[in-house]
Amino acid sequence: MPVIGVLALQGDVPEHLAALERQHVKAVPVRRVEELDAVDALVIPGGESTAISKLLVAFDLLEPIRERLTRGMPALGSCAGMIMLASRVLDGRDDQQSLGALDITVRRNAFGRQVDSFETDVVLDGIDGGPFRTVFIRAPWVEDTGDDVEVIGRVSGGAADGKIVAVRAGTVMATAFHPEVTGDDRIHSAFVDLVRAATATAAEKQKEDR
Ligand code: GLN
Repeated sequence: MPVIGVLALQGDVPEHLAALERQHVKAVPVRRVEELDAVDALVIPGGESTAISKLLVAFDLLEPIRERLTRGMPALGSCAGMIMLASRVLDGRDDQQSLGALDITVRRNAFGRQVDSFETDVVLDGIDGGPFRTVFIRAPWVEDTGDDVEVIGRVSGGAADGKIVAVRAGTVMATAFHPEVTGDDRIHSAFVDLVRAATATAAEKQKEDR
């Protein structure tokens, strides 16, 4: 059974742990390097990316997580987690760090103050079962994506029509909204499938190398 960590420095950690547990994987909070070493994949929750950035530095986790991501650890980020996974952050604080695992540019708090929070339906490519009810809370959007990044969801209608809010590149997925708060677990389920496939491939490779 894969072990999936949820970065537990700040943000909506319990909601992600619960959504993962409903997928029958072992879900554990990660605050220390030893805990990171014990997981097959990592979820970075929503919260406040400037706070998560500072705490990653304070807990000596920034470089170890970057290194795991470079070596192919699967990751899922929601909202602030998407910002943390991005290579480029607009409207961030000067000293804000990101993990650079997704070749995207995100704009923080992009939807503007008037619409701090809203809900809408988004159709997600590769996720069956109809549109996904999405909850945006002071969310970012994706301003541009590198060649290897697949856009899997865009806002449809309203002032933000067409804005990119869900992406995937290899084993890294991110959403500008919060899939952990609606009880619709299809994104966590897709992520767990991806983690299972990645851990099976890694085990195969290890066998071959022996
Ligand atoms: N505005 C937050 C940030 O910039 C993200 C909000 C969220 O995760 N709900 O980090």
